[in-house]
Amino acid sequence: MRLVGRVALLLVCLYAGAAAAYSVQFLNGIERDAKTAREEQIPLILSQNRNALKVERAASLIRSVYLAHDRKIERQIQLQLQTLCQSFTLDENQTLIDGAREIAASVKVIVSTREASRRLRDSDGAAITPEIEAQIHETDAASAEAYQHAINTADRLSETLATDAVALADSMASTIGSAAREVKLGWTLILTLPVLFFVLTLWVVSRHVMAPIGSAVARLDAISRGNTEPEAPRKPVFHELATIADAVKAYGALSIDLTRTNALLKILSDRDSLTGLANRRSLQAVLDTTFQTARSGGPEIAVMMIDLDHFKAINDTYGHHAGDACLVAVADVLRRFEADDGASVGRYGGEEFVAVVPGRDDKSLTDIAERMRVEIMALDLRSDDGRRIALTTSIGVSRMAGRLLDGVQRLVSEADAALYQAKRDGRNRVGLATVHTANGSPKRNRQA
Ligand code: GH3
Ligand code: MG
Ligand code: MG
Repeated sequence: MRLVGRVALLLVCLYAGAAAAYSVQFLNGIERDAKTAREEQIPLILSQNRNALKVERAASLIRSVYLAHDRKIERQIQLQLQTLCQSFTLDENQTLIDGAREIAASVKVIVSTREASRRLRDSDGAAITPEIEAQIHETDAASAEAYQHAINTADRLSETLATDAVALADSMASTIGSAAREVKLGWTLILTLPVLFFVLTLWVVSRHVMAPIGSAVARLDAISRGNTEPEAPRKPVFHELATIADAVKAYGALSIDLTRTNALLKILSDRDSLTGLANRRSLQAVLDTTFQTARSGGPEIAVMMIDLDHFKAINDTYGHHAGDACLVAVADVLRRFEADDGASVGRYGGEEFVAVVPGRDDKSLTDIAERMRVEIMALDLRSDDGRRIALTTSIGVSRMAGRLLDGVQRLVSEADAALYQAKRDGRNRVGLATVHTANGSPKRNRQA
């Protein structure tokens, strides 16, 4: 990203330099054009205008000489015209010089034909004969023709000068116009490019800086909410952000591993490692919770204390390994009661198990305990050397029976007492705890 910053700064500097160079070049061009217009084109246009006025003046003198009918005036006007036409030769415009010469020649013809006409008319008082009349007519016609030719030449020159002036003015206007257009386009580009660059920068920042940061933050959020499979963060283009993204990814992986390990540890800390049933600690939590629920108006519970009969002897006879297998098999039997009867079962210690069962009906509770006893007894257990292991169990059952008990420990103690009563009564049986009701009369402890 540091590199990108430097490149951006370099681009900005280059751009500013290019814009300045462009501006200087254009301003120089405009200055050059203005100088050309001032020193060449404007004087040319002024000279054309001056010449146009002179041509107008020449046309006026042509008319005057033609209308004069006085020898002296004609000579004066001819002189003026000759001077005027002479002045055109100072210009380098060949058309103008040729036209001026033609006008001067035509005026000369006018003056000379007029003179000839006058001489024919003043023939010392002699009568004008038809031949003289014809000659007079001929010279007058030549004079008129010369006049017409001079006027036409003046008109043509006038028109040429006007057209040239218009063309010059037009070329000046188009030079100025094209310079103005180029300046306008140039400055539009100079001003537009930074805007485009700004928009592009915004896009790059939003796509390649903000979006990866947002993605990393979203991933952290997801991890902190406990999501162990958050969406992979977007791979950023910039090196520094990629480092952050990698750190977030590594943190995420570590956090996910910890979450999974914690979950596993929780399972392990709540479970008995041999049988997979709830251990005594988590069983105690279940006892407390279900008892509190029952006390607060939920379904009543019963506690069953399940103890394997003469288990020490089984260990001694078939070995500790066989004893473990028996415990696992018993756990599998009891686990079925969790699904079928809504019981919560745990290993209370050694070869003792506890089941927390919802319900208050003596018969249904005894039935459940009986089924446990019978199913355990029916297990087909074998020692390592293939001998059948006969396994029985004694179960003590205690229930709330509508009593307002202080704690669940009372039920556990009563179930324990019922269990030992069953042991004393010969084992392999279910003992229902004696319940002392509010009026003090004990309920009978029923033997199964
Ligand atoms: P009772 O019918 O009176 O309950 O007799 P018991 O032999 O079952 O009772 P006792 O308390 O005398 O012996 C319990 C035995 O359970 C002792 C111990 O070796 C065995 N035991 C406890 N935990 C385990 C275990 O995890 N694995 C095995 N294999 N045996 C265990
Ligand atoms: Mg026992
Ligand atoms: Mg025991």
